[in-house]
Amino acid sequence: MARSHTVIDQIETFAAHNYHPLPVVIESAQGVWMTDVDGRRYMDFLSAYSAMNFGHNHPVLVEAAVAQLHKVCLTSRAFYASAFGPFAQDLCELLGMDMMLPMNTGAEAVETAIKLARKWGYQVKGVAPDAAEIVGMQDNFHGRTTTIISLSNDDSARADFGPYTPGLTSVPFGDVDALRAAITPNTVAVLLEPIQGEAGVILPPEGFLAEVRRLTRERNVLMIVDEIQTGMARTGTTLYCDQVGVEPDLVLLGKALGGGIVPVSAVVGTRDVLGLIQPGQHGSTFGGNPLASAVGSAVIALLHTGEMQQRAVERGAQLRAALEPLVGHGVTEVRTAGLWAGVDIDPAAGTGREVSERLLERGLLVKDTHVQTIRIAPPLVITEGELEWAMVQLAEVVESLRS
Ligand SMILES: *Cc1c(COP(=O)(O)O)cnc(C)c1O
Repeated sequence: MARSHTVIDQIETFAAHNYHPLPVVIESAQGVWMTDVDGRRYMDFLSAYSAMNFGHNHPVLVEAAVAQLHKVCLTSRAFYASAFGPFAQDLCELLGMDMMLPMNTGAEAVETAIKLARKWGYQVKGVAPDAAEIVGMQDNFHGRTTTIISLSNDDSARADFGPYTPGLTSVPFGDVDALRAAITPNTVAVLLEPIQGEAGVILPPEGFLAEVRRLTRERNVLMIVDEIQTGMARTGTTLYCDQVGVEPDLVLLGKALGGGIVPVSAVVGTRDVLGLIQPGQHGSTFGGNPLASAVGSAVIALLHTGEMQQRAVERGAQLRAALEPLVGHGVTEVRTAGLWAGVDIDPAAGTGREVSERLLERGLLVKDTHVQTIRIAPPLVITEGELEWAMVQLAEVVESLRS
């Protein structure tokens, strides 16, 4: 215990309090298991918000990273790097898109897409200078930069960080009529998560994404889909859009694109849009660096086999079957997509934080979101037996809180 107290003390004293972590100090991890400084093992049921989709220290990804570490890690894009070429091609081919623009964090990919959409609006659609509008969805989560929080309606993300970026509006997620009404001749893009992750794994109403696609085509507006959390096999297909047969103009990837090893994000899309960017108009020192590219290519190779998508489907069905009987027994609602779930805890039983703390005591790591919800996202490499064990822990904790 002594060491964990020391570390928590250091972090709380010397690092800004922009997170409220559970009281556990992780020192190492392998696959779905994490080990704390006192040698206790925990199952990772969060996967760093789906950045760790393929499990900790996946041997293929670690090997790719180590091999590249010994070659070259950073050139900047002042020069061509040999690892970047295959990564760019592999990613475009995986998604059936024309071009990509590499960045590092998810928020940067979102910022990049906003810039691209505005440029497209002025140069192609013919919107008057500085008049471009982008429509998002209420309760979205796209990151924490000043422009992105300008599109947020979450008070903790927004308050005291104004003035806000103009040209951004939002409509209720799933409301086609509100979206139709919000699109003006100056609208250049609709930006949305296909499933709202941070909001609590909120699935779109049936047919909604296809309707957004139809409407955006009809009104000459780009459809930008933020698959930073839904993408890379989490929901049972490479992108969630694949499942509903929707082809956006721009797809945003991050999190698991870097295999949980290095931050890698990208905007992937049509040449009509990505082809507009010229030298000097956008960039990042680390974007597309050789280490990131090598890991990204290895991630894409993993996805090409279809194994991870299949695991998400199979273990996802098991997860859903285990969660559904909890409804009415300390749980008010469950929503799942592949190996991903939002579980609403009955306020009479407790809060999401209380459930997370009880599960921590039993060696299962989850995190609450929006007070009453816990989000479940184990690494896709979890076995049937491991998932079964985790579900017993959750059922017992929810049961014990009720009584
Ligand atoms: C996590 C996330 C982001 C932001 O990614 P960062 O790497 O934290 O900047 C953006 N959009 C979605 C949907 C996310 O889940």
